[in-house]
Amino acid sequence: MLDADFFRRWLTAMAAAVEREADRLTELDSAIGDADHGSNLQRGFRAVTSALDDDPPAGPGAVLTLAGRKLISTVGGASGPLYGTLLRRTGKALGDGTEVTPAELAEALREGVAAVAQLGGAKAGDKTMLDALEPAVEALGTSFAAGAEAADAGALATVPLQARKGRASYLGERSIGHQDPGATSAALLITALARTAEATA
Ligand code: ADP
Ligand code: MG
Repeated sequence: MLDADFFRRWLTAMAAAVEREADRLTELDSAIGDADHGSNLQRGFRAVTSALDDDPPAGPGAVLTLAGRKLISTVGGASGPLYGTLLRRTGKALGDGTEVTPAELAEALREGVAAVAQLGGAKAGDKTMLDALEPAVEALGTSFAAGAEAADAGALATVPLQARKGRASYLGERSIGHQDPGATSAALLITALARTAEATA
C-alpha cells in the first residue's frame, strides 16, 4: 500500500531530479522553445516541496492535489497548468483515503494524463509531454519500473517528431531532431516514482 508519505517522497525525489537536470531541460527548451523549462519546473517543484513540508496532507490524493495547485500557481509556462492538471486530476481520482494500491495509482494517473490531453488538445506523436506520459501509464499496469522505461523511451522517441502543439510547433520542421523538454521532464517524474517504489519495497 502507498500512503501520504510515499507520495511526499515521490514529489521530493522529483524536485531533486529537477534541480539536477534543470540546465539540461532549459537547454532542450532553448533549441525548440524559449529556454525556461528547467527554471519553470525548479520554481514549481521548490514551491511543492515547501508546501508539503509546511503542512503535510494526510492522504495520497491530498498530497497530489496540493502539489498540482502549487504548480498551477507558481509556473508561468504552458507546463505549469499541464503538470498541475496531471497531479490535481490524479489526486482527485485517488480520493481521500489514507492509502492506495499501485493499481489504483496507475488507474488514477491514466485519468490525470487524459485530463492533460484534454486541456492541451495534444495527442501522442505531437512531440509533447504526452509522448512520455501515455506509454508510461500503459506500462504502469505492469510495474513501476516498466512505466519508467516506457516514459524514457517515449521521451527519446520525440527526437524525430515535428512538434504540433505548444511553442515548439511555431518552428515547424525545424523542431525535428530535438528531444522535447516536457517529455524529458515527464520521464523524470515517472522515474522518480519508480525509484521511490523501489526504495519502499
Ligand atoms: P512554455 O512552452 O510556455 O515555455 P515550458 O517551457 O515550461 O512552457 O514547457 C514546454 C513543454 O510543455 C513542451 O516541451 C511540451 O512538452 C509541453 N507542452 C506545451 N504545450 C503542450 C500541449 N498543448 N499539450 C501537452 N504538452 C504541451
Ligand atoms: Mg519554455
